[in-house]
Amino acid sequence: MPAKHPTDASDGGLTLRELKGRSVTDLKSVGPKLRDGLAEMGITSVLDLLEHYPRRYVDRTQRAEIQELTSGVEATIDGEIRSISARRTRDGKRVIVNASVYDGTGLLYVVFFNQGWRERQLPKGTQVSVFGKVEDYRGKRQMTNPVIDVLAAVDTERGGGLDLTGTIVPVYPQSGKAEVLTWQLRRSIAEALGRTKQRGFEDPLDGPLTAVFRTDLDLTTRDRAYRDVHQPDTLVDANVARHRLKFDEFLRMMLGLVARKRKLAAEATGVQHVIDGALVQRFHDGLPFPLTDDQANAITEIQRDLAAPAPMHRLLQGEVGSGKTVVALTALLTAVQGGYQGAFMAPTEVLAEQHELTMRSVLDGLTVPEEGSLLGERPVRVALLTNRTPAADRRRISEGLVRGEVDILVGTHALIYGGVEFANLGLAVIDEQHRFGVEQRDLLRAKGDSPDVLVMTATPIPRTAAMLIYGDLDKTELRHLPAGRSPIETRVIGTGPLERVAVYELVREEVAKGRQAYVVCPLVEGSTKLEAKAANEEFERLAAEELRDLRLGLLHGQMHPNDKEAAMRAFRAGETDVLVATTVIEVGVDVPNATVMVIEDADRFGLLQLHQLRGRIGRGEHASTCVLVADPTTPQGVQRMEAMVQSGDGFELAERDLAIRGAGEVFGERQAGWTDLKLGRLPFDEPIVLEARAVAEKILDADPELVAHAQLREEVEDLLGDAVEFLFKS
Ligand code: ADP
Ligand code: MG
Repeated sequence: MPAKHPTDASDGGLTLRELKGRSVTDLKSVGPKLRDGLAEMGITSVLDLLEHYPRRYVDRTQRAEIQELTSGVEATIDGEIRSISARRTRDGKRVIVNASVYDGTGLLYVVFFNQGWRERQLPKGTQVSVFGKVEDYRGKRQMTNPVIDVLAAVDTERGGGLDLTGTIVPVYPQSGKAEVLTWQLRRSIAEALGRTKQRGFEDPLDGPLTAVFRTDLDLTTRDRAYRDVHQPDTLVDANVARHRLKFDEFLRMMLGLVARKRKLAAEATGVQHVIDGALVQRFHDGLPFPLTDDQANAITEIQRDLAAPAPMHRLLQGEVGSGKTVVALTALLTAVQGGYQGAFMAPTEVLAEQHELTMRSVLDGLTVPEEGSLLGERPVRVALLTNRTPAADRRRISEGLVRGEVDILVGTHALIYGGVEFANLGLAVIDEQHRFGVEQRDLLRAKGDSPDVLVMTATPIPRTAAMLIYGDLDKTELRHLPAGRSPIETRVIGTGPLERVAVYELVREEVAKGRQAYVVCPLVEGSTKLEAKAANEEFERLAAEELRDLRLGLLHGQMHPNDKEAAMRAFRAGETDVLVATTVIEVGVDVPNATVMVIEDADRFGLLQLHQLRGRIGRGEHASTCVLVADPTTPQGVQRMEAMVQSGDGFELAERDLAIRGAGEVFGERQAGWTDLKLGRLPFDEPIVLEARAVAEKILDADPELVAHAQLREEVEDLLGDAVEFLFKS
């Protein structure tokens, strides 16, 4: 690159933005075919390429010699494929590939079952690293289905003169479909590193203010980091490099989040709500229970924010059943009593409907002052808006909203995407469950003039993860459940017919005592249709067989809203004994008389989803039982079942979930950008997150808009895009 670009003449090192501006086709080693393959892997710029980090390293100093291998031990060897052939088993159903690997000391036999593609992947002459357990097969050393990394392909690599004499060989994630091989990546990355050598990489932690962090935290330079992550001399160097790169990832995110938080707090234009009005007082007086201490504290914190001129940006975190609804309603009524409107956005239709119902019932009889009316009072008005709201109702609601006749609008994301307009939105409550992100929050905010925002989540998330996702919000927690809850016993039973007998026995016993039960049907990933079908079948089966003497109800996402509502109402009223349902009951459904939950194929659910589901029982005075029906086939499945039996604490389960699955899986696509980590992993990298947060705060203390740290600003903007554009002056 150096020769081509006008700025190359400058003395400074290359910035990430410059590297992002350079196409991989600037590299000699990238022709049209490789370019297409890389593009399929999402690699188009030189930066993308350099941030395609090795999945692991093969340390060739640690390899064993084949002749020394004894059976029963795990070992890594490397050598060359000497022979390879595939055949079918006699019944023609399975493919077996036999190969042999030679390392100069001896031969290792390798056998792959059902991996016919290995024959093409590993032609004779391929250099490989093989990791697996050594077996003794008729006096020969053998490994079955070992982990194989291609270190160098036949011909091409030799011709390319790639240096495999180094001891640490990086192994890259590959995409089989894209047909980009590890050696091609190594070669192009080597070229990119070679051509950036002269200018080097500019280090944002090299400024008058920032250099000290690098020293204090013992971080290597960015230049070394990008080089050593790909071409380390030792594994220690590789780890030092990765540490720096992870730090930079977290620092960018934290700068964005902290800057956003401070910017929002600095807005002095928000609504100053009236917190000691009669409406909230009457609402609290009418509750059939005293507030818990946690609820009272949460309300105090929230009302302090509401009364202040700066708009609130607060996260209300608390397990299922911890009583968030009362807190949220208090906030909404605080807005309403001062003449403002409230919006309540829920992640699903069922949940929105449930919330609307709850609100209607608790607000029944509550009134707000109205000028010009006979009694000077009118009832608090709540409306529901989802994608299923008929056009006529939608029009009526919209008009009511603009005229200020609707006090609280409850709904799904239909609230932000439809042409919904408020007369004067004062508070937006978002029941998030990680299903909405910063962008959705901003869209709802935009419906008012700097309204206050309260984000709620029932999915407890570990502290550090919360810092990454909700790092721009203040936080309030409801840690203790209201008194009078009874404990839930959780059991795991197998899926065999005999074991099931006991489950339905339990259901019948509880029903005989006047209690109710849920049967949750298997999760069908990505298809509510198939899920509905499964629920239907389960319903029919139970009604015809095991539970035929009981009154059954059915609830799934494909039902007409009226039917859903009818099913919920019947169950709530105790007119049905057992509700056969899909995960639509995951959140919000509240029937204290239900004491049994049977979850089918429980190992297919995520840990927190199971916990959410389980939170539907144990809500009343009676002891409850949750039965997980599962024969888990994966280690993770087993771990999840164990965790459910051992713990009823959402926060603890959240930590375990994170450890089992890793952050990428836990937070998924929804939070893309904000948790776009290439190297960083939670919970393992928590210490780095905390360091990055502290550094971000110090940098922003001194330079709130990163005026003197243009490079960092660029990096934050490139990472977070629109969500932070408003933060920094350019
Ligand atoms: P969350 O929304 O946090 O899952 P909810 O607000 O739905 O929890 O409350 C769960 C149940 O607990 C509801 O039936 C609610 O009426 C009840 N509840 C709420 N606060 C209290 C309290 N302070 N004391 C007793 N019960 C309460
Ligand atoms: Mg609730």
